[in-house]
Amino acid sequence: MSETELPVLSVRALQKHFPVERGIIRRTVGAVKAVDDVSFDIAPGEILALVGESGSGKTTLGRCIVRAIDPTGGEATLTRRDGTSVDLVRTPQRGLRSIRSDMNMIFQDPFSSLSPRMPVIDIIGEPLRAQGIARREIHARVREMAALVGLNLDYLTRYPNAFSGGQRQRICIARALITNPRFIVADEPVSALDVSIQAQILNLLQDMRERLNLSYLFITHDLSVVEHMADRVAVMYIGRIVELAPKSRLYATPRHPYTEALLSAVLRPDPEARDQPILLTGESASPAAPPQGCHFHPRCRYAQDICRTVAPQLTEVAPGHASACHLSKELALRGVGTA
Ligand code: SF4
Repeated sequence: MSETELPVLSVRALQKHFPVERGIIRRTVGAVKAVDDVSFDIAPGEILALVGESGSGKTTLGRCIVRAIDPTGGEATLTRRDGTSVDLVRTPQRGLRSIRSDMNMIFQDPFSSLSPRMPVIDIIGEPLRAQGIARREIHARVREMAALVGLNLDYLTRYPNAFSGGQRQRICIARALITNPRFIVADEPVSALDVSIQAQILNLLQDMRERLNLSYLFITHDLSVVEHMADRVAVMYIGRIVELAPKSRLYATPRHPYTEALLSAVLRPDPEARDQPILLTGESASPAAPPQGCHFHPRCRYAQDICRTVAPQLTEVAPGHASACHLSKELALRGVGTA
């Protein structure tokens, strides 16, 4: 991103807290901090991968940004194709309709996210119909988009159950892109597909990024997928980003012990190059009652006294590389690949 170019998405101190209620009168007794003070930018044409274990808050973060759920606080500024900016957090629901053409979401499960009662041509064209565009133009644009994502144009009047998982995900991608958005949240878009199909869909998403100058927030738990797709990577743990860096730097020289443990579990094709995986003891803590200090300290093999009492802040440790660990500058952590 050049210095004068605005990020497509700029997220600052985003929060999503779910109240914990008890008793007959549903008294609020606490909060589950599913997303807690998260900040990052995404540049035009960039893919930022968001990784972490299940329950880390990645999907909640993606859903807050596209306003599928309402955030508790913070900002998420989207720069639209016409150059204007809008804070997605403060936009009331009724104002979101016009913004939805600039951003969209691709979901994990292409089986449940398509209506079984609508022909594919109507499913893909639905966002255009919501904008009041004439039927003839909708059909022309649907055919154009269907061809772009590799769907057979002769089958557009069929229903979703006539399509395989990979074809259904192509339908979902066509529907997400039909309004010419600038920004897409892709939430585990290949994890429900056969391994043999996954690479085709990932290549399609890369191809669409280049042709349409798209930016993605790419949510996944699979670091092999991240390696294939991402420009930069944000690692999330119990609602917070604990490391953020360009992909090659993060893989080669991780600066957070949690990232080191995740990377150690990535299978390398060369058995000689494989190290023993670092086994994390215990479960990820609950975001309703996270540990004091560094949330990761009960599972961290490098934890020291300060880690149990003082929460580390996400701080730049090298140009473009930030980590939330008291020992980021001292530890020589094990990565994979080369920077
Ligand atoms: Fe481990 Fe301490 Fe760093 Fe947390 S702050 S990741 S406990 S070394």
